[in-house]
Amino acid sequence: MSVRVRFAPSPTGFVHIGSLRTALYNYLFAKKMGGKYILRVEDTDQSRLVEGAIEGMLKAMDWAGVNHDEGVMLDENGNITQVGEFGPYIQSQRLHIYKEYIKELLDKGHAYYCFCSKERLDKVREVQKAEGKVPKYDGLCRGLSKEEVEAKIAAGESYVIRLKLPANKEIKFNDIVRGHVCINTDDMDDQVLMKSDGFPTYHFAVVVDDHLMGITHVIRGEEWLPSTPKHVYLYETFGWEAPTFVHLPNILNSERKKLSKRHGDVAVEDFRKKGYLPEGLVNYVSLVGWSPEDNRELFTLNELEEAFSLERVSKSGGVFDTDKLNWVNAHY
Ligand code: GLU
Repeated sequence: MSVRVRFAPSPTGFVHIGSLRTALYNYLFAKKMGGKYILRVEDTDQSRLVEGAIEGMLKAMDWAGVNHDEGVMLDENGNITQVGEFGPYIQSQRLHIYKEYIKELLDKGHAYYCFCSKERLDKVREVQKAEGKVPKYDGLCRGLSKEEVEAKIAAGESYVIRLKLPANKEIKFNDIVRGHVCINTDDMDDQVLMKSDGFPTYHFAVVVDDHLMGITHVIRGEEWLPSTPKHVYLYETFGWEAPTFVHLPNILNSERKKLSKRHGDVAVEDFRKKGYLPEGLVNYVSLVGWSPEDNRELFTLNELEEAFSLERVSKSGGVFDTDKLNWVNAHY
């Protein structure tokens, strides 16, 4: 089986140093395994799009030298283009594909139309919280008949499509960093898969695309770990083999809190403007959350490709240390 990995940014703003690391680990793993590294743009949340973010992200990756083999790229004139046989690689251009797969889930009874208003859902959540419960959809629309659904749609009522989770089923998967994960569907929610604007949610699109694009390993930030059981259940429901999951620990600041804009430079662009060299930044970032077998701290990109392994990604968050970055950068 040849390795195929992907970096799947949402074009919502600047490129965080954590995104550079995610891209880099995907790139290094693909290189090491003789596989392919794909870049897909996840723009299903239309309300969060930032103009120019795709171009900015592609330029940042190009500057860093973390180059992908397939997907969304910039041509020699700086225009967005797409390369590869599994495209389109921009999710907003794949709506027809998601429609086809959501129909399959609806037809097989694994998904249902939900017409509940935001006001109603807020109220349900409030009551559940007051009762000390973890808020989740109460399933009101699960029982609607085909005729009721058709009548509501004909009347122009707005709807979403939700996943119909079975009761009391254990969802299990193995994560290379986190180990064995198991959760019961009773502790999960009937996730929205298609939104009222006709766009899929991240959870639905990511599963359909990773499957159709032949992704073998999903390497991403650990904030997505709680979402993974939903994805694993979708894979099972479609009868598709799930990829191997690798959730990377957060990058932390010196106070061991998640590195964020409030605490200084976090954008790749900030470092570029300050005169850091791409080789220095990439070398340092590779070591925040991964360690080589020896104690080496200086690596060219080629040397990183040789040395990298997913098994040596650390479980705990890596601290971003500017002094260390400066030390590494000074060696280039
Ligand atoms: N679009 C998601 C993000 O920007 C990607 C998550 C994933 O890699 O599955 O964080």
